[in-house]
Amino acid sequence: MIYGVFSDVHSNYEALSVVLDHLEGLGVEGWICCGDLVGYGPDPDATLDRVRALKNSSIIAGNHDLAVIGRIELDWFNQYARAAVMWTRVKLSEPNRLFLESLTARLDTPHFTLAHGTPRNPVEEYLLSPLQFRDNVPLVPHWPLFVGHSHMPLLFRFTDEGAANVDARFLENREEQLPRVSGGGLAPVALNPGSVGQPRDHDNRASCGVYDSDKGTFRVIRIPYDIPAVQGKIRAAGLPEYLALRLAYGQ
Ligand code: ZN
Repeated sequence: MIYGVFSDVHSNYEALSVVLDHLEGLGVEGWICCGDLVGYGPDPDATLDRVRALKNSSIIAGNHDLAVIGRIELDWFNQYARAAVMWTRVKLSEPNRLFLESLTARLDTPHFTLAHGTPRNPVEEYLLSPLQFRDNVPLVPHWPLFVGHSHMPLLFRFTDEGAANVDARFLENREEQLPRVSGGGLAPVALNPGSVGQPRDHDNRASCGVYDSDKGTFRVIRIPYDIPAVQGKIRAAGLPEYLALRLAYGQ
């Protein structure tokens, strides 16, 4: 089965629509979303309306989603993130607020595991180091593990069966063959598809991924979108200027 994998949309509808259109064109049959659908950007309702319409989807909440519905404190958000959360609370339609309330920040399915940050701390921890990957492996019931939160396309896996070394790196647009155990199932591997609506790896194109569960492959795809249109909406909404500027730089 072919899955479209995406994360950290952050109310950027222009980026989301080019990503979903592209993935639909590839014949995607299921969807995996690693959270942070809203926050930062100017189109929370259009974003959630489109995501809620996806068939066969596995979706989790991120820290910004949970802040918007008041489930986590705003204290540790920076001033820009906090301003966008407060703005989103006022704008969000009731059906979309209820949808966010139905989500959890971690989801175990028989075919894969989702966590916004990490399995041990799905709301706060950024999966960025080999040590964190190693510590989280025992907490994952089904591989692959898909994460978001860092806004960077990343892969973590062991380089050998003895699990002595971890391969941790940025993902370029090429097909990755996922590791297998001797019995044929997938070995531990964590995959971050990068961010749709606010990439932070100095590449301003929207980022997403394709997971082929039959072939055991994952590929990151980068797609340009209309950044000036989103910047115009951010300014028109009165959201912080910094949130418009950073989109152009991919950071
Ligand atoms: Zn995010």
